Amino acid sequence: MRAAVVAALLALCACASAPQEAPRWSIVLHGGAGVIERERITPEVEQQYRAALRDAVEAGGAVLDSGGASLDAVETVIQRLEDDPLFNAGRGAVFTAEGRNELDASIMDGRSRAAGAVAGVTRTRHPISLARRVMEQSPHVMLMGEGAEAFSRAQALEQVEPGYFFTERRWRQLEENLRANGLPVPPRPVGVPSPQALNESHPDDHQFGTVGVVARDVRGDLAAGTSTGGTTGKRWGRVGDAPVIGAGTYAQNGVCGVSATGTGEYFIRVGVARAICARMELNGESAQEAADRVIAEVGAMAGDGGVIVMDRQGAVAYSMNTPGMYRAHMRSGAPSTVRIFADEETE
Ligand code: ASP
Repeated sequence: MRAAVVAALLALCACASAPQEAPRWSIVLHGGAGVIERERITPEVEQQYRAALRDAVEAGGAVLDSGGASLDAVETVIQRLEDDPLFNAGRGAVFTAEGRNELDASIMDGRSRAAGAVAGVTRTRHPISLARRVMEQSPHVMLMGEGAEAFSRAQALEQVEPGYFFTERRWRQLEENLRANGLPVPPRPVGVPSPQALNESHPDDHQFGTVGVVARDVRGDLAAGTSTGGTTGKRWGRVGDAPVIGAGTYAQNGVCGVSATGTGEYFIRVGVARAICARMELNGESAQEAADRVIAEVGAMAGDGGVIVMDRQGAVAYSMNTPGMYRAHMRSGAPSTVRIFADEETE
């Protein structure tokens, strides 16, 4: 009898201390960080974001569950978020001070650390796909402006009129931003609808909304990608961290994958995504420790934002110094989880 009790206790202990089995596949995404507070978000708008995040992460989960590559999952999910006007990427991107949508994106393949990025594109429907073409079909890592547009056309990627990216909500944000900074408001872009009343308020107005994804597929390959319109009222061809490999995006098999969102100038200066992976690789820090330390470093410099991080086995960490970050996670054998506010429990 005693032996049986001891054996049962031992079995329990072994079970409690056994490392959690790595998922077959895992995917995590963010939809931007910022001043996203419960008091500023109506239940309807909150539900819209939660549904969009859930649908997107589950679309990526379906790619991975059928044996698809992490790169394909990253591209599929980001394309979807680029099409969704809720997010500051593709359609729904924020405007420059001149009233344009200039889009930035990057993608990285953890197997070889091949990477592709584009900055300031205005006519490619899916900038993430253009970044992937740069990685796979050009000898370069980053293309910008007119040259990137020419490459996009040469690759036969879908082209749209610049007005395709227009949303009334982002235009209002631009008007407010320019007025607050004493700058002139440019004319509305050609071909967009005349001004409409807005009947809903969004929690992240004036703030961020970039999208990013990190995935690990059944072969253990990591990939990461990020896509954004940048910051409202940006000027002079400003480019943020999203297309900068090592700042906004990083992936390295056997180490980690990262996508960042926040005040890009600080994320570039800290080299956020690479710094997190280097801490994990060289200091043996967990994804959470490394992410928290690097976000604290950004915060100490007065930068705001957050990161999603995946370790080599598909475990996920989030870190942010803002009241919220739209985010979702899914792994094999478990339902998806969606979070918005910083104080929501992680899993
Ligand atoms: N990091 C982006 C940028 O600076 C903006 C964001 O994440 O919201 O362009």
